[in-house]
Amino acid sequence: AAPVPAELLDDLNPAQRAAVEHHGRPLLVVAGAGSGKTRVLTRRIAYLLAARDVHPGQILAITFTNKAAAEMRERVAGLVGRRAGAMWVSTFHSMCVRLLRREAKTLEMTSNFSIYDADDSRRLMTLVGRDLDLDPKRYSARALTAHVSNWKNELIDPEDAAASAASDFERKAADAYREYQRRLAQAGAMDFDDLIMRTVELFQAFPDVAEHYRRRFRHVLVDEYQDTNHAQYTLVRELVGTAPTETGVAPSELCVVGDADQSIYAFRGATIRNIEEFERDFPDARTILLEQNYRSTQTILSAANAVIARNPGRRDKRLWTDAGDGERIVGYVADNEHDEAAFVAGEIDALADRGEATYSDVAVFYRTNNQSRVFEEIFIRLGLPYRVVGGVRFYERKEVRDALAYLRVLANPEDTVSLRRILNVPKRGIGDRAEAVVATHAERERISFAAALRDAVEGRIPLLNTRSQKAVGGFVELLDGLRELVDEGADVADVLEAVLDRTGYRAELEESKDPQDASRLENLDELVTVAREFTEFAQTVLAESGAEDAGDEPEAGVPEPGSLPAFLERVSLVADADSIPSPDGGADGADGGTDQGVVTLMTVHTAKGLEYPVVFCTGWEDGVFPHLRALGEPKELAEERRLAYVAITRAQRRLYVSRALVRTAWGQPMSNPASRFLDEIPEELLDWRRQAPSRDSGSPRAATTWGRRPGTGADSAQAGLAAGGMRTTSFQGFGTGRRGDAWKSTVALKLDVGDRVNHDKYGLGTVVATEGAGPRATATIDFGSAGTVRLMLIGSVPMVKL
Ligand code: ATP
Ligand code: MG
Repeated sequence: AAPVPAELLDDLNPAQRAAVEHHGRPLLVVAGAGSGKTRVLTRRIAYLLAARDVHPGQILAITFTNKAAAEMRERVAGLVGRRAGAMWVSTFHSMCVRLLRREAKTLEMTSNFSIYDADDSRRLMTLVGRDLDLDPKRYSARALTAHVSNWKNELIDPEDAAASAASDFERKAADAYREYQRRLAQAGAMDFDDLIMRTVELFQAFPDVAEHYRRRFRHVLVDEYQDTNHAQYTLVRELVGTAPTETGVAPSELCVVGDADQSIYAFRGATIRNIEEFERDFPDARTILLEQNYRSTQTILSAANAVIARNPGRRDKRLWTDAGDGERIVGYVADNEHDEAAFVAGEIDALADRGEATYSDVAVFYRTNNQSRVFEEIFIRLGLPYRVVGGVRFYERKEVRDALAYLRVLANPEDTVSLRRILNVPKRGIGDRAEAVVATHAERERISFAAALRDAVEGRIPLLNTRSQKAVGGFVELLDGLRELVDEGADVADVLEAVLDRTGYRAELEESKDPQDASRLENLDELVTVAREFTEFAQTVLAESGAEDAGDEPEAGVPEPGSLPAFLERVSLVADADSIPSPDGGADGADGGTDQGVVTLMTVHTAKGLEYPVVFCTGWEDGVFPHLRALGEPKELAEERRLAYVAITRAQRRLYVSRALVRTAWGQPMSNPASRFLDEIPEELLDWRRQAPSRDSGSPRAATTWGRRPGTGADSAQAGLAAGGMRTTSFQGFGTGRRGDAWKSTVALKLDVGDRVNHDKYGLGTVVATEGAGPRATATIDFGSAGTVRLMLIGSVPMVKL
């Protein structure tokens, strides 16, 4: 092997270095926040390539966020150049989609399967519940899908679920599960949990397939290991193997890094059990502990340690830093949430004025998405540039979902949920009764809903009246016409335009007097733009590359670039729940970004793995954070405390913690007591900018009337946001750091004039100009002899910044 470049190991401490250089048996790095786990993972990849003659194509790295994936790619590319493109760096879901599309034949399913997100799943479950005559009050679609999801995360199939059902509810839920799976299959669709479970099934049922991937991925690395669930854990184990295969393929090298104190997805089935299972399944595993924190000041670290120490049954860690004490933590007790937001905004302004922080140095955290609205209002009023990560997103808007449902039906005619979504949208005289008649026919004949629609047209459903039959005929004809366009190879954007025009969707909105419809039109225009750019981008790349791929293998499993399935796949994955900001902010939104960047607003969950010089932790009130539903539930409370630990440990230099005495929730002013986590921070670390009138002696704890609050919070919170509507920058296009980044660098690249890049096709270049923002950001790049090219910076960009 080549000599190891010094910069690969020089700035690592001995434990980190040991993890990077470790050879052979499985490696588990468990360590507290900011101790360099992610750095170790990245460095290890670079080291494998540089010092151990590993080929990039042999590396599979699983990250929780796309930002981490992009960083990893950038660093590795700096080292090995374009060869980095052959690495798989992705989230679990992206990786599974890719595997399943490649191996669809083996599983006897279509490689064009639709991916159902949470909303689609719930819709499908609603249909299932109706069919099974389940009382929607007792058996809500939400509860049923949650149950099914838990089963899938534990790799329990419908039969096992039925066999082990211990209560009436579980028995019904197991019935629903079976029916739900049947309908998914019929619709050629998978939900997010299926992606993982089916991949595990694939590996377990087809050892030769598993062996193929084991042969290929000799190195598997997993970040944020504490947040994997049982299914994901099993997937990893199947992939790397615990013993040589019959044909003698040794297990692959496995390296996982995590922190049990940052496990914050137990509600999604993530389990610390994975660490125990790891030690059981890989008895010869080596464990390395990291103890030095490089991120935060001692004050911040002490606060985090004090809070997490209250959790029972954890392994204590000795995390230290030599960064010095730094500033004390600033505490603030606000009169109400508006006052709290005003305080935060004022502080940010002051820090910026004093030159102590730029806007992009700052992050504001809250517990649930709905809490962002108050901050947004005041930020807008004061002209503070900001960006909200998460919340009601572009792809969750009704009109966007409707339009996408048309595209999905065009790509996959059997996609029942999408088909039924658009059946009478816009209204075309196919009422609920007609839909029910068709659905019943489909059930009785055991055919798909799509097939039943054709039967309807041919008059084979006697119960359907002539008017409905005609309406259905019109609908089927409309779809056939649109599908012809697709078959002729029309661009996605043209197909989308045709959908909006031929269905009358656009005309209806144009004629409406409702101002909200105007913004819906804008959103649809935006979607067309996205599709247009998607196509243009694919064409540029194809034209320049002579349509051949630089990868190691023909990219089976990846839809043809620019095609409708490729577009839909990207959208599905991009729209998925965990959205990741680029913490360096940057002027990348319609948010008036300046050279100061923008302030980032997000939930604590979203902030995992990230770091910011200045962090505001807001809403630290019992009932808000910890969340209402965790009060009195020791397990959930422990998870909330881990979340608090995550929040505090994101801060590098300055930390603010605030709460409001009164906060309006569900239309009622509620007086909230201080968060118990706030009380757990040692007093001497805090500098109270403003205290409660008499610090918590007359704590309103007693006066709180939780009973009045309807719902469980999360749902209502979501509803509250949906009603809000206005957002400055909620649009996040392709790969602005969502799960969709898959296997090329699809995270939006942030480039400035003068930056050096390396493009898969054009090679080395220098940025000469940049234009536009967000999904429209482009850069003009001088690639020397390869010419000067203008490129979109979002989408599947096979390019890295050097
Ligand atoms: P988290 O638990 O929050 O995911 P982590 O353990 O993954 O944190 P990193 O994000 O890898 O920690 O590192 C935290 C910060 O410390 C980063 O800015 C990283 O560059 C820096 N860092 C890590 N190790 C070192 C080191 N040996 N020398 C200097 N800086 C380091
Ligand atoms: Mg990390």
